Amino acid sequence: MAADNACVIVGASLAGAKAVQALREEGFDGPLVLIGEESERPYERPPLSKGYLMGKDAREQIYVHPPTWYPEHDIDLRLGTAVTAVDPAAHEVTLADGDRVGYGRLLLATGSSPRRLPVPGAELEGVLYLRTVADSDRIKDALQSGSRAVVIGGGWIGLETAAAARTAGLEVTVLERAELPLLRVLGREVAQVFADLHRDQGVDLRSGVQVAEITGSGGAVDGVRLADGTRLAADMVIVGVGITPNTGLAQQAGLEVDNGVRVDEHLRTSHPDIHAAGDVANAFHPLLGKPVRVEHWANALHQPLTAARAMLGHQDAVYDRVPYFFTDQYDLGMEYAGYVQPGGYDQVVFRGDVPGRRFIAFWLDEGRVLAGMNVNIWDVNDQIQALVRVGRPVDTGRLTDPDIPLESVLQRM
Ligand code: NAP
Repeated sequence: MAADNACVIVGASLAGAKAVQALREEGFDGPLVLIGEESERPYERPPLSKGYLMGKDAREQIYVHPPTWYPEHDIDLRLGTAVTAVDPAAHEVTLADGDRVGYGRLLLATGSSPRRLPVPGAELEGVLYLRTVADSDRIKDALQSGSRAVVIGGGWIGLETAAAARTAGLEVTVLERAELPLLRVLGREVAQVFADLHRDQGVDLRSGVQVAEITGSGGAVDGVRLADGTRLAADMVIVGVGITPNTGLAQQAGLEVDNGVRVDEHLRTSHPDIHAAGDVANAFHPLLGKPVRVEHWANALHQPLTAARAMLGHQDAVYDRVPYFFTDQYDLGMEYAGYVQPGGYDQVVFRGDVPGRRFIAFWLDEGRVLAGMNVNIWDVNDQIQALVRVGRPVDTGRLTDPDIPLESVLQRM
C-alpha cells in the first residue's frame, strides 16, 4: 500500500490533524496517511465540556479543518479505521480489515481513554463519560431532559460539566474522593477557590467521599450510593475520574512504555522511525529536566510541529514549550502555565483579589516560579511563561504587588 517514503499518522484527533498540516507546511510532498478509529474528522475537545456542551458553539466550530482541506492537501484520511498492529521491523501498520500500510516514518497520536469507574451499576443507561463529540451530544441531550445530575470526579471534566449542568438549571452534586476538587493538580490554596466557586453557584460539592454503587431501576440509573450508606437521587451520572494513555499499539510494537510512550525531546520513541505526540507521549522536557506527559489541548496542538520537523530529519526540532491549559466555569476564566508535581511546591502567593476571583496565583519552590494561573485577568500569560522559563528566584514582594508590572519583575530577576 502506501510507499515506504510515506508518513503515516495513527490517531485522527487534534494532534494527528496538526501533524499532517505541519508535515505539508514543512515541505513534505510524499504520501501522507492519517488513520482514525472514529468516523468524525479531526476535532478539538475543549468545547466538548464547555461551549459546545452548553449549546454556545456550533458543531462546525469544533473541527480542526474543513472536510475539503484533506483532499486539497493530498492527505489520505481514513476514518472509522482501527490500527491493530505496528511492525517496526517491516515498517508497516495493520488495519482491522487486515489491510497493511507501509511507512517510512510513523507518528503515534493515539491519545487516551477515560478511566471506567469500577463499581456496580457503572454500565447502567444514563452513566455518561465525556471524551468524544458523541459523548458530549449524549450529555447535552441529558441536560435538556434531566433535572438532577451527580458528577463523579472533581477534576477538569467533572467541574466543567458540573458548571454546564448548573448553568442549564439542574440540581448538581459533585463527588470527589480527595479532600478538595483539583487538589492534586492545584494544591490546597487554589483548589479551594474552585470549591468555593461551585458552592457559591449552588453545587452540592461533597469531598472525601467514596462511591460504592450506581443504582438503577429498569436498566436506567436512578442514583448513587456512597460507602457511608448515603443515597443520592439522579437521572444522570457523569463520570470524570481521569484518563489512561492508549499505549496498546506501542507496547505490542515493543516500544518503551512508561506512563505513556516514552519519547525524547525530539518526540522520538525508542524506535528511530516512530514518534509520538499528544496525551499518549511521555516526553523528556528540556526546560523541566524530566519526562512529562501533559494531558491538555495545548500539548496536542503544539507538539505535532516538533514531531513533524523531527520526522523530516531536523535535528533542532525540540519540544520545550511551557505546559499550558485553560478553563471556563460560570464567570471564571483562567489560564495556567507551568508544571508542578503533586505537592512539589513550597509556597503559593497571590497577586490581586482572591475573594473577587480576579488574581494571579504563583506556585514557587525556593523562590523560583514553577507555575502561574491568571484568573479573570488577561494578556499576562506570556509574562507568566517567561517567569517560569527564567527559573531563578524572584522577589515575591514585587511579584505579588499588582502595581508593579510583571515585565518589570522579570527585568529585575
Ligand atoms: P482529571 O482531571 O485527572 O480528574 C479526575 C478526578 O477524579 C481527580 O480529582 C480524581 O481524584 C478524581 N477521582 C478519581 N477516581 C475517583 C473516584 N473513584 N471517585 C471520585 N473521584 C475520583 O481527569 P478528568 O477530569 O476525567 O479529565 C480527563 C482528561 O481531560 C484530563 O487529562 C484532563 O486534564 C483533560 N481535560 C482538561 C480540561 C482543561 O484543561 N480545561 C478540561 C477537560 C478535560 P484523585 O486526584 O484523588 O485521583
